[in-house]
Amino acid sequence: MSKVTAIVLAAGTGSRMQSKQKKQFMEINGKPVIWYSLFQFEQSPVDEVILVTGEEDIEYCKREIVEKNGFSKVKDVVAGGKERYHSVYNGLQSATGDIVLIHDGARPMINRKIIEDTIRGVEEKAACVVGVPVKDTIKKVQEGKVVDTPQRELLWITQTPQGFRRELIHEAYQRMMENEDSRVTDDAMVVEEYGKHPVYFVEGDYKNIKVTTPEDIQIAEVFLRGKTTEKTF
Ligand code: C5P
Repeated sequence: MSKVTAIVLAAGTGSRMQSKQKKQFMEINGKPVIWYSLFQFEQSPVDEVILVTGEEDIEYCKREIVEKNGFSKVKDVVAGGKERYHSVYNGLQSATGDIVLIHDGARPMINRKIIEDTIRGVEEKAACVVGVPVKDTIKKVQEGKVVDTPQRELLWITQTPQGFRRELIHEAYQRMMENEDSRVTDDAMVVEEYGKHPVYFVEGDYKNIKVTTPEDIQIAEVFLRGKTTEKTF
């Protein structure tokens, strides 16, 4: 059996939320956003969790989130960096699993099926991202003008977790950080560009949204109603 580490990212500033409180600590149905992901990983086959947060929030997370809720799988709380990829890179330094799942703490609708499907995907294919086919037509736009309409059947929305064999993602990140490639917006992209290994999709869930703007909080409140008392969802 492979050992599995989940890196949970909560070091963003949440500037698009237009709120004083960082989005990962905002409460949804009485629990902080970050609680839901940690709760799901605690109940899952994942062996260890590395929580990445702002340097100034490490003590708060340890005391108020990890200890108070008895999240025993959280082995380390580490400081993130300026960009998401800096935070992932820092988290990777503490990960000890054969498989690493990288998850946005801002996606509280993660569930046991998604976690298990991603682990299975990595066991079979070494690099997998969770996602769903797009429903809308997507256009590429430059300076307000449509320059391309990619064929919809080929387009998927990327979510997290994104899972990899640890050596594969670690080496790819190492190479990416040598160039400090600021185009990087997800982990699959690091493997696509620097890992020389194909990345496969695992079918996710349309509910697995990233809580980013104020209306997402309202959507998450509906999806997460009653979820704080269930064992898994
Ligand atoms: O900013 P964005 O919505 O892409 O963030 C996705 C996830 O990455 C969030 O959970 C956020 O807290 C995390 N993040 C991070 N460090 C950063 C930026 C984002 O851990 N520097």
